Amino acid sequence: MKKVTDSHVKEIRSIVKTGRVLTNESDRFSYSFDASFGTYLPDVVIQTKSVEELVALVKLANREKIPVYPRGQATSLSGGPLPVHGGMVFDLSVMNDVLEVYEEDLVAVASPGVLTSNIHKAAEQKGLLYPPDPSSSHVSTIGGNLAENSGGPRGLKYGVTKDYVIGLEVITPEGELIRTGGRTVKNVTGYDLTKLIVGSEGTLGIITKAILRLIPKPPASETVMAIFDSLVDAGKAISKILTSGILPSKMELMDQASIVAVENYEPSGLPRDAEALILIELDGHPLAVKDEAEQVSKVCKEAGAREVRIPQTQAEKEEVWKARKLVSPAIVRIKPTKISEDATVPRSQIPEMCRRLQEIKIKYNIHLVVFGHAGDGNLHPNILADKSDKEEMRRVEQAVAEIFETAIQLGGTLSGEHGIGTMKAPFMEMELGAAGLDMMKRIKLAWDPNHIMNPGKIFPEPGQKLVLSE
Ligand SMILES: Cc1cc2nc3c(=O)[nH]c(=O)nc-3n(C[C@H](O)[C@H](O)[C@H](O)COP(=O)(O)OP(=O)(O)OC[C@H]3O[C@@H](n4cnc5c(N)ncnc54)[C@H](O)[C@@H]3O)c2cc1C
Repeated sequence: MKKVTDSHVKEIRSIVKTGRVLTNESDRFSYSFDASFGTYLPDVVIQTKSVEELVALVKLANREKIPVYPRGQATSLSGGPLPVHGGMVFDLSVMNDVLEVYEEDLVAVASPGVLTSNIHKAAEQKGLLYPPDPSSSHVSTIGGNLAENSGGPRGLKYGVTKDYVIGLEVITPEGELIRTGGRTVKNVTGYDLTKLIVGSEGTLGIITKAILRLIPKPPASETVMAIFDSLVDAGKAISKILTSGILPSKMELMDQASIVAVENYEPSGLPRDAEALILIELDGHPLAVKDEAEQVSKVCKEAGAREVRIPQTQAEKEEVWKARKLVSPAIVRIKPTKISEDATVPRSQIPEMCRRLQEIKIKYNIHLVVFGHAGDGNLHPNILADKSDKEEMRRVEQAVAEIFETAIQLGGTLSGEHGIGTMKAPFMEMELGAAGLDMMKRIKLAWDPNHIMNPGKIFPEPGQKLVLSE
């Protein structure tokens, strides 16, 4: 991998006529981290809305073998946009001016820097819904969501980002501008390159435009909060609801540590003494969702819920969901360093995963908080620590490795939605096997023969280990 030299910067400046080229250390430092771990200084940062300029920059990078790091809003929890080998960072959050909704086609077209919450708003203004809703949707870009194949609470009923992308415009690592898919909801012309790019974590190209599928917005919703004295019982209730013939739009879990953290942060009357609560949303026809809320309450009580609350007004419902949104900001008050995992298990294994997480918490004497999209098996075990305490961080490393091992033993996966990035790369072979990983490497080589696009991600480097204690 080459460094960016003064003569490269001169050439970059001659290409970027409409945007900015940042070379000051203080500017570059702002691009050296994301919402995960580690800081890596890029050689240069480029902000441009021009696809032609980006194409020319990628051609230059490919010719000179300079690493290129696409970046949205850097909310990645797995190290996705970190410029681990220096090189050029493309700040794609500036490409935020195309957002068009075509209601007759139930389609939206967006440039990569558009915030996901703006797509939600634009769709809803036309009575439509863009279902993928990462909890970071107010601060993350659609480009980042596409690259990570982001999920969110509504994934339970509606699926994740990949289920709503029907076409892309992409700059390949060799600097070709290609279009995949299109505006039709059905398309079987050749290999599905759209789905290959989605979730490739910026390693196969730069997304410069996306065509997204929308659906009619459900007319009504009901919320149910079920309170449990046992986390494992809450896990059992989740499995029971899913086999009861009802498919909620959201089913989120909060354990006692997250309940207490939210109550300390912004009190809303959550039961501090409960070991867990489940928040459930049902959407659809107004009469159907009322009936489903009753049925879900009954299932929760039978599974051991000590209390079930059904908020009546819109304001009460919003208060309940706000509590869930506040978990992330609230728990960082416990300790300053947050390691947010998203190991995911088959839904039948949710109670066992809850039990094993409690064992790991005790074994390594760590602050472990469990919450997340439990309805699709995508728990978020979060470890709160202090990175200046090396001894604690070593225990955290061991605990994280054991969480991954446990998820895989239970038939699950390293990542349900946050991606592999730098954080989980050392564990890839454990899940995929050597041959499976090699097939992925061969795809990468075919697309990116010079390994310039987001190098240092997904694929483990020789001898790479999870290191949080340095
Ligand atoms: C509080 C909080 C809550 C979160 N909740 C969720 C959640 O519920 N569900 C979930 O899935 N994730 C969640 N995340 C993780 C994160 O928000 C998502 O991964 C998000 O999609 C990242 O978007 P971004 O714009 O910040 O991208 P970045 O973090 O900047 O980049 C992410 C990846 O995308 C690549 N990339 C960015 N733009 C492009 C592009 N145009 N072309 C090609 N590659 C590109 C980058 O190289 C990188 O690999 C959360 C994060 C935080 C901090």
